[in-house]
Amino acid sequence: MPASRSVTRAVSDVLELAPRRGEVTLHRLLTAVSESRGRAIELTTADLPPGVCGQWRQYADRDVFLIQQGLPTWERTLAHELGHLVLGHEGMPVAQAAMDTAEFASDDLIGYMLNQRTGCMGPSGEDAEQEAEDFAALLIYRLGRMPSDRASIVQVRLGEAFG
Ligand SMILES: [Zn+2]
Repeated sequence: MPASRSVTRAVSDVLELAPRRGEVTLHRLLTAVSESRGRAIELTTADLPPGVCGQWRQYADRDVFLIQQGLPTWERTLAHELGHLVLGHEGMPVAQAAMDTAEFASDDLIGYMLNQRTGCMGPSGEDAEQEAEDFAALLIYRLGRMPSDRASIVQVRLGEAFG
C-alpha cells in the first residue's frame, strides 16, 4: 500500500532538515529534528516488556525513544518512533497507560511523563501504527538512495547511535 500524502510529506520534511554536508544517518536526522523543534530527543536502549520493540516517552521538556535491548531491527524501530513524533501521534496519557499495564505504573513516571506510546506493529495495527510503519519504510528507503558519499543508515554503528 503506498504511503499517504501526509506520510510522504513528513518524510520529505525530515530529510529537508538533514545536514547539507557529510553522512546523513538516522542519528543525525534525529538531532536535526530535535533542533528544529527546540526540544531534546534522547535515544536509549531498555528492557521493555516482551514483544515490545520501542516506546516513545514524552516529558515536559524532552522526548525519549526507548529501543528494546538487542533488537536487530533497531533502525526500523527508531524510524517508526520518529514517525509517530513527526506525525503528531501523541500516544496515551501516562496515568491512563499505567492503569492498563502494570509495568510502568510507578508514581515517578506518572508524575513527570506526559504521554507514552508503546508498541510494535501488530497484524491489525491502528491507523497511527500503519502510518508510522509507512514513515519508517519510506524514510529508510530514501536514506538508502541518497548519494553514496552521504549515505547511509547501515553505516551507523550502535555505539555511535546510543552514545
Ligand atoms: Zn508504533
